Amino acid sequence: MPRLIVAFAALLFALTTSPAAASALPDGGELPADERFADLRPIVEAAGAAGLRSFDGIAVVEERITRTSEVLDAYRLRLDVAARTVIDANQIIAEQVVGVDELRNEYAAVIDGLGERDRKRLESEADARSGTSAMIRKVASSDWVCPVDGEMEFRDSWGEPRSGGRKHDGVDIVARSRTPLLAPEAGTVTFRWDVIGGRSFELVTPDGDYYFGTHLRSYGTKGEVEAGEVIGYVGRTGNAVGSHLHFEYHPGGRGNSVNPFFLVDTHCR
Ligand SMILES: [Zn+2]
Repeated sequence: MPRLIVAFAALLFALTTSPAAASALPDGGELPADERFADLRPIVEAAGAAGLRSFDGIAVVEERITRTSEVLDAYRLRLDVAARTVIDANQIIAEQVVGVDELRNEYAAVIDGLGERDRKRLESEADARSGTSAMIRKVASSDWVCPVDGEMEFRDSWGEPRSGGRKHDGVDIVARSRTPLLAPEAGTVTFRWDVIGGRSFELVTPDGDYYFGTHLRSYGTKGEVEAGEVIGYVGRTGNAVGSHLHFEYHPGGRGNSVNPFFLVDTHCR
């Protein structure tokens, strides 16, 4: 801007002192100063206006530059804030990951600190909880088929003492010999024989549940079966007293037997 002021002053100076601008009268005399410069006045006024417009323009540009730098500053600030936010978020995630690891270590330490008996109890309680929820699902299922197809009687005898210190881990469904036995669910059926049970069926469902039935008089269909398919017949083989089906349900696999009374009681009446 100072350069423009200098140029403007130089222009005024040039106009007022230019020899061409000095108008001489024919008689050699000179006009008074105000008349001498009269024809120059529009030029000077125009130059002044142009100069002012230039100043205005510069002011506008300056203001714009100021605003632009303010915007840039704000943008830079926002970038900083964004960068700090990302750093903070990473910090929080890192702390949580450490927290999860610590929790896992504490859990492992608690498990390690348990005696063998407490650990077994904890495991069996967890099994019982999953067994109960599986039982509720089966009780509520309309697809589940009663394993005995005929007249029958049964009662809740879960946990009653049996020979050799064993406890009864199923339900005894009393029915006439040769009454058909049906697959309660679709699955894979295998047969086996031993001294205690005599002839038995084992049925494993696609989701890993295990059913066991024993004292069969004879076998039915084996391999892949649909729910309701005949897989055997009621008998009194093994150590059975009277013809009946000893029936067990192990949600999640063999070795996790739960009381099947409620299941049978729901679907066999
Ligand atoms: Zn039994």
